[in-house]
Amino acid sequence: MRRALAGLLLLPLSLTFSSSTQAATRFEPSKATQLAPTANCRITNPQEIADRPNSIGFPRPQVFGNLKNPKILVVPYSFADTTSPILPVAYANSILKMVSQYYDAQSYGQSHLTFLTTPIDPVSKLPAQIKLGTYAKDFNYKYVDENTNDARGFVIKLAALADPSWHLENYESVIFQTSDSRMAYTGIAFTSQKSQMEQDKILAPGGMVESAVLSVIGDPVVNHELGHALFRFLDLYTNFTSKYDLMGDGYNLDPNLFAWHRWLAGWLKDSQVRCIESTGTTSHHLSSVNAKDSDAKMVLVHRSKTSGVAIEQRDGGLILYSIDTTIPTGRGPIRVYDNKRNPFSKANAKIQYSGLDITIKNCNKIGCDFTLANQQPYDASAPVAAPAPAPSAAPTSAPEPPRPTLDLSTVAMGQPCNGFAGITAVNPKNETFLCKVESDGNTHWVLP
Ligand SMILES: [Zn+2]
Repeated sequence: MRRALAGLLLLPLSLTFSSSTQAATRFEPSKATQLAPTANCRITNPQEIADRPNSIGFPRPQVFGNLKNPKILVVPYSFADTTSPILPVAYANSILKMVSQYYDAQSYGQSHLTFLTTPIDPVSKLPAQIKLGTYAKDFNYKYVDENTNDARGFVIKLAALADPSWHLENYESVIFQTSDSRMAYTGIAFTSQKSQMEQDKILAPGGMVESAVLSVIGDPVVNHELGHALFRFLDLYTNFTSKYDLMGDGYNLDPNLFAWHRWLAGWLKDSQVRCIESTGTTSHHLSSVNAKDSDAKMVLVHRSKTSGVAIEQRDGGLILYSIDTTIPTGRGPIRVYDNKRNPFSKANAKIQYSGLDITIKNCNKIGCDFTLANQQPYDASAPVAAPAPAPSAAPTSAPEPPRPTLDLSTVAMGQPCNGFAGITAVNPKNETFLCKVESDGNTHWVLP
């Protein structure tokens, strides 16, 4: 009865719409059949890095275990002269909880990280730790610096000293963490693989450790390091990626991952990626990369076997970036076409980038409609492509992000955070190093 009535009521409305100009100008995205098969757009790694443990292309590196529910063992360690823990354990755990929530959100609920600790020591009532029995200076560690210190050698040493009953070899990753303030405000990730040189493998008493992160407890950079250790991403760095992506900005907990990374990780379905290989004009609708829905999230314009251009929807607009799998980690394998750190969002705006002419029809928080004219066809025989021009000057050597140094032994919690609401921590010089920011119902930890 109600259904019949509803049908009657709707009829006049649909007549009104079909006769209006709105219906005539309605935006229609190109059908998937008008595009290239999505599988074509899996930009491949060049031959020479095909078997590396980390990469930015397909196929993905083989890893131990599963990435839907990876388990990560947190192993504390100390030197003979390490002072007692400074930061409260609850604070360190709150960071790990946020890391888990971060990957829940980025993966649309498809990868849930679980952190476990070593067994509780009956005497200290704290998780059992590796006691190195030597002084920090014996390792020449003023602070961990992978360029001037043998950090991998240090991790190999730690793994060998683990209690066999902890079974480091059974976890997707292991975090070695210390409260020792001399060990720097940074992290480093290492991956093992069977094909690796024997001296580079990270071996626990029970077998090979899949991946390891070296970190100071409570340091949010552990989030970025797990991007390397678990999902095998490369370093991107902010001089190439502006404010976008966790692998670009490792000192903040919150930059959302590129749609490209989410496709690599298997969190985006092929049906959410629109692949273009031929010249001509096509129309597209992309919903926000952060929204958990089945809409398209990325347009990928395939240029050569090892390169392409991606477009995705962020913060109410579009961002564009080039992908080139021949460029090594840290040197800009992904480069964002930076619009003064803002996405392109104005209706009728025209964007020209790397052989593309894009015209925005409409953008809002939920999604963007746009047309794309491609002038450059996919070329399977193309030599290794030069990267699309970066808006800012690209350095020629791999930069390391700046590493703030901090004496954790005198950190005080709860001071007002300059310019932000919420709690913070400051070092002895009264410099704030971490702000807890609540916005849009989310918690972000940021370095000011
Ligand atoms: Zn990194």
